[in-house]
Amino acid sequence: MRTVVGDNDGQRDGHPHPQMANERERDSGHTQATVTQLRNILSADHFRDWYRERQFRQNIENGTPYFNKSGYVPDPEYHNPSNLLQCHRKIYYQQHNAPAEQSDPEGIFWFGTRFEEDIVFPFLQQEVTGSDRYVQNSVWIDHSIETEVGKLRIKGTTDPVIVDPDAVPILPTEIKTKSSIKDLTSPSRHHKAQLHAYMAGLSDEYDVDLTEGVLMYADRDSFDVVFFHVDFDEEFWKDIVLSWANEQTEYRLDKNLPPAVPESSWECKYCSYQERCGKGNSGHSDLGVRGLILGCTTYPREKISEYLQSDNDNRLTPTLAGLYPQLADSHGVHPWYCPDCDFIFDWKTINRMSTNRTNPLCPNCAKENSLSELTVQSPVLNS
Ligand code: SF4
Ligand SMILES: [Zn+2]
Repeated sequence: MRTVVGDNDGQRDGHPHPQMANERERDSGHTQATVTQLRNILSADHFRDWYRERQFRQNIENGTPYFNKSGYVPDPEYHNPSNLLQCHRKIYYQQHNAPAEQSDPEGIFWFGTRFEEDIVFPFLQQEVTGSDRYVQNSVWIDHSIETEVGKLRIKGTTDPVIVDPDAVPILPTEIKTKSSIKDLTSPSRHHKAQLHAYMAGLSDEYDVDLTEGVLMYADRDSFDVVFFHVDFDEEFWKDIVLSWANEQTEYRLDKNLPPAVPESSWECKYCSYQERCGKGNSGHSDLGVRGLILGCTTYPREKISEYLQSDNDNRLTPTLAGLYPQLADSHGVHPWYCPDCDFIFDWKTINRMSTNRTNPLCPNCAKENSLSELTVQSPVLNS
């Protein structure tokens, strides 16, 4: 005799009811399809595209749509406070949108912003200011300075500024986060320069005389902090900072590549233009601001994309075309060129992997038993 057990839960003889079993099979099929769908969506490419799109949208929402445009070159007399007293050549490349060889340290930027907004701002608000002092998130400065050799303009935004009830600045701050502050005994010169630019700019704008600012360094691991109170030093401002800005303006006005002399020893290690400058491994040096370097494969995708979008004439190198075929399709590729036989080859016709030399060999010359390295016919890349 068959015993029906728990008809209510759709089981017979301890086995699922056939209709329920079908439903479960269908459900498990659906679940599998959903998991497969999710697996496809959870991809690095998808995240990258979402993140870029989000940044694009946020720039528009924040009223800074110009950050979405590539190819903007500021006037030679314009300087951002955060660029002051850095390697002239690095800033020259950066201001002319030379293609960067590394990604921006997004994580460090993100942490810096969060630390400033979520930790430092409330600290200043709750513990440092009171009934007659307030804290302002940031203040825009646009400071024109007449110097002996010409006009300079320093434009940018400050970090939190302590202000009076009329929102007149009392004490500007600059907040920096670092991997460690253990051995930090004094502020860096270029951070001091940045703070001086705030003091000078705010004094001019609000007709006050700011003589002190604060540099706060925070350790990204431990959240330990150290403060340096910096007095405005007229000699440092005029003889060092403004003279650096004048020199940088002259390089940009004359379109003259500055020498490869970093202001600090650490700069080359973190520089995004090492190959172009001559401190990398590609064998190139002192290259101008345009063109992707032949044979250099360290360019991150987003930097190539930015560079290609900044000018319709920009093309990929054949080496990068192999790495980023989608960009090759949308922006075009420099063909390979043989300087010996004058032949030009579409990048797709040359098997890049057939050789371990820096550049592939010319198949045309090879037929004549001659070894000729292919290159690209571009004055910039070969300079
Ligand atoms: S590699 Fe060094 S010298 Fe060259 S641009 Fe960069 S920081 Fe300056
Ligand atoms: Zn040839």
